Amino acid sequence: MKTIPQDNFDRYLRQILVKEIGGQGQKTLFKSKVLVLGAGGLGAPILFYLSAAGIGHLGIIDHDNVDISNLQRQILYKTSDVGKPKIEAAEIAVKNLNPNIKINKYDMKLEDGFDNSFFKSYDLVVDGSDTLHTKNLIARNCVSLSKALLTGSVSQWEGQIFLYDPSFASSCYSCLYGDLVGTEKNNCNNLGVVGTVAGIVGTMMASETVKYLLGTQYSLKSTLLIYDGLSHELKKIKVQKNQKCTSCFLI
Ligand SMILES: [Zn+2]
Repeated sequence: MKTIPQDNFDRYLRQILVKEIGGQGQKTLFKSKVLVLGAGGLGAPILFYLSAAGIGHLGIIDHDNVDISNLQRQILYKTSDVGKPKIEAAEIAVKNLNPNIKINKYDMKLEDGFDNSFFKSYDLVVDGSDTLHTKNLIARNCVSLSKALLTGSVSQWEGQIFLYDPSFASSCYSCLYGDLVGTEKNNCNNLGVVGTVAGIVGTMMASETVKYLLGTQYSLKSTLLIYDGLSHELKKIKVQKNQKCTSCFLI
């Protein structure tokens, strides 16, 4: 059995000491591939923590440049990154933290009918995108590919997380929200978002990703987690498979 090189052993020592991770779990994390959609308010803490934790291979999809208004919450970026493509600045930030991580960059905006074949090589898709149209599109593509999907959203003081895990006949994002047609107005660009709340929810998503990759028995599969940043209340709601779901029910 291959051992963990000393540099990496020291790097990850504090989490190798955790019962659910250990040396074997650390190797599993390093062999894992996670595709992160959106290198923004949620994507920034997700990418930072996944690279810090030694998830060996990360894909990043984004098509925006860094804007000064992003810096209040998108902690991957510096003031000197303003105007640069996010995927380029994100790769540098991730590599500075952990040079052992492989990065695939996808400078693209996901449109209806996009070629989803590259999703197949990833163990988990993590959606930190900020429009309902994109979330719905990603969710439907993941269901059609039977690809596990962790979806998150954040607005003002509240965030939500949901895990679709096809290996457990999970309910899907569309079971929960339907088709979301015509509800595009509600995103953080016009409602606003508290930077720390994006950080908390993104960090929870990174934590859920690590648990999913390790195969721990604790999971948010088929469960909606709602975080209220004003009261710090957490709610978990079990989502049943919707027999009228147009996305997953016949799969
Ligand atoms: Zn469904």
